[in-house]
Amino acid sequence: MADLRDMYQEVILEHAKSPRNYRTLAAPARKAEGFNPLCGDRCTIFLAMQGDVIADIAFQGNGCAISRASASMLTQSLKGKTKAEAEKIFNNFHRMVTGQSPNGDRASLGKLEVFAGVSEFPARVKCATLAWHTFEAALHGDQEPVTTE
Ligand code: ZN
Repeated sequence: MADLRDMYQEVILEHAKSPRNYRTLAAPARKAEGFNPLCGDRCTIFLAMQGDVIADIAFQGNGCAISRASASMLTQSLKGKTKAEAEKIFNNFHRMVTGQSPNGDRASLGKLEVFAGVSEFPARVKCATLAWHTFEAALHGDQEPVTTE
């Protein structure tokens, strides 16, 4: 697993250790749950919308460093964004971690670029995207739990 060290950049480890927005939001906030059976990662995303804007976003869960850091950075990246902006970031993030070229400008990903190395580790892509798929479910009000399988 020595190769993994390269992608476990400092910022990922730091977020995994001290995740941001690690809390719950009271109803009527939207909530969705996700599970990645491949690694055992679990993630719950809470979302408070104000019209079209993500007024607040939080998460809870257990999992590996990548899944925790990804959820933590997701909450930082998406808070205050509109639904359309969030969808665009999600799309570009997904393209980045699956090794596809970005749609439009990748600069919009900002710090999320630290996950670019994940594309070299197919098994880890699900860890990195779990929170994002769960976020999508919360955004669309899906009731079914999300699974990466
Ligand atoms: Zn994982």
